[in-house]
Amino acid sequence: MKTFVHRGQITKVVFGSGTRRRIPDEADALGCRRVLVLSTPDQADQAARTADLLGAAAAGTFTAAAPHTPVEVTEKAVSHARNVRADAVLAVGGGSTIGLGKAIAARTGLPQLALPTTYAGSEMTPILGETAGRSKTTRRLPEVLLRTVVYDVDLTRTLPPAISVVSGLNAMAHAVEALYAEDRDPVAVLMAGEALDALVGSLPVVVRRPDDTDARADALYGAWLAGTCLGTVGMALHHKVCHVLGGAFGLPHAQTHAVVLPHVIAYNAPAAGAAMTRLSQTLPGDDPAKALFRFAGRLGAPTALRDLGMPESGIEQAAELVVRNGYWNPRPVDRTAVRAFLARAWAGETP
Ligand code: NAD
Repeated sequence: MKTFVHRGQITKVVFGSGTRRRIPDEADALGCRRVLVLSTPDQADQAARTADLLGAAAAGTFTAAAPHTPVEVTEKAVSHARNVRADAVLAVGGGSTIGLGKAIAARTGLPQLALPTTYAGSEMTPILGETAGRSKTTRRLPEVLLRTVVYDVDLTRTLPPAISVVSGLNAMAHAVEALYAEDRDPVAVLMAGEALDALVGSLPVVVRRPDDTDARADALYGAWLAGTCLGTVGMALHHKVCHVLGGAFGLPHAQTHAVVLPHVIAYNAPAAGAAMTRLSQTLPGDDPAKALFRFAGRLGAPTALRDLGMPESGIEQAAELVVRNGYWNPRPVDRTAVRAFLARAWAGETP
């Protein structure tokens, strides 16, 4: 018999092709009349098109979202939202833009909608990461959960294959850690397995044919499920390592996840038998860590932290930070062993 607690999500999810055209109705259903559309500078065109769709319900655009949600950008966005009397924010983009929406919501209480365009999954979580200067803080705040997420597969076709791959591996990391999460429940485990199947099946096709609608839909579907896992159960060593590497060395988010994941799977494998069995159904072979390493390599993902800009001298410091502050992991976190796998990940060696 299993004893468990399952947390449901309040977020309404609309999924399909052309679904962005439902945005005005979704805003209306929330009673929103002045929606501020957010994006990065790169996606300003998409923000403008979304504001056009909203018509009279648009309160303009704010297109300065930046990686790691810097508080100075948030402060400008909050004052812009107040000046235009926004009654909601809508993020069009990946985790950086959705992070800005959450940071605004945390300060103003405004409801949020999103049109996600990567596989990072932030739109399904109550997690808010912010940076002030060089320090990044991460909090779980139920009040930053989005009200409505509209997944429109058409918007993901422009995501370049190389970014699609690392973003997809970032999503797979949420699913892998959900399989062995301390507070996992049967629904989270089902979602994690389904997410892994969808992503492993679709990413090779996305690389070959970036505008293949079916493959893009499967990848986005997997990303939604994986993001839901991230939002509902606790993460462990993998997310801790990536957080440390991003914070200490400014390494890029999705690429770091792509390099680290096979090494953490290898580390946790002896203590996470059921998770490894499920992972092997998706990535056949007797060693899921090596199977994932080969899979990522075939997709052209980065395999070495040194190629992402991490100095070799940082391995020791990273190992120290990873073992600092206790947190749950299926296998106790041992500094010497962490240092050893970080050295392999730094050099691009097999896990
Ligand atoms: P991102 O949002 O930084 O996007 C990367 C780049 O790709 C940006 O320039 C963006 O404009 C561009 N882009 C996005 N979608 C595109 C598309 N369809 N076509 C063309 N260009 C596109 O990257 P990300 O990996 O989605 O997000 C990373 C950030 O999200 C990190 O700061 C990370 O910490 C955060 N994150 C937070 C959570 C959470 O739950 N809070 C979860 C995952 C990631």
